[in-house]
Amino acid sequence: MASPKDEHLALSSGIGLAGLAISNFYEVGRDAFETFREDIIEVIVKPNKTSAIHWYLAYFQDISREIENISGNIDEKDFLFNFIYRTLDEVNMIPNLPKPDFDNCTDNCHENCICKEKLDIWIEFVEDNSDSINDLIIHSAFQVIFQNRKFLHDFHLELANFIEDYIDYIKTAQPDSVTEKNRIKRQRFPKWLINAVLYRDKGTCSICRCDLSYLLRTQNTIHIDHIIPLGVYGSNDASNFQLLCETCNTSKGARSTATSSINVPFWNMN
Ligand SMILES: [Zn+2]
Ligand SMILES: [Zn+2]
Repeated sequence: MASPKDEHLALSSGIGLAGLAISNFYEVGRDAFETFREDIIEVIVKPNKTSAIHWYLAYFQDISREIENISGNIDEKDFLFNFIYRTLDEVNMIPNLPKPDFDNCTDNCHENCICKEKLDIWIEFVEDNSDSINDLIIHSAFQVIFQNRKFLHDFHLELANFIEDYIDYIKTAQPDSVTEKNRIKRQRFPKWLINAVLYRDKGTCSICRCDLSYLLRTQNTIHIDHIIPLGVYGSNDASNFQLLCETCNTSKGARSTATSSINVPFWNMN
């Protein structure tokens, strides 16, 4: 099977965004769902590589607004330039543009000088490419959040409230994706999603931690489980899945939202 290709992930920017998004979730989660209602409904009925988490992250990620905030709050143009340069470097989009030389400029405030002109060209480059930059940082933040099953559980519990409130609307918009009992319909799992869940959960059951990797054994079947079940208004969003063994999947039942926040660290401290 083909494994994912290497990418330049903007992990520093992504971790910053992920932290912001997680710490604000319990206050603004629902607002974000309402803001991106159409987009979210489109991606949760069947697994999509752009998940509800991506749309939630989009609520916080706006490189143009960040530049405005820095310009408004900190009157230091070299600080702003360094922020822009670091961000572009992280997303691997450094343009071939002349860099401002603040140190060798006679205008201390850089209001009417050549470095101000150069800085403005860099700002313009960011504005012109803001969609791609935002998407790359969101993609990177997702890599971090996807590992946090405890947060995914809380996220999808809140999303389930939203789905319950909008189920009639979803039924009208996506009639083939809603059951007669007004729940999101079960869908097939695409291979890229099974692989992602298998690697994220390190080939172990998310509840009992038994080994399910393909490496040594072949007899145990793996189960891809909805963290928040469809029966309680969970969805097929790509971030609502976990790896379970057959025993745990059978005993979890159709309404339980069991998961565990146990993870395998890189090493143990004792
Ligand atoms: Zn200057
Ligand atoms: Zn298990």
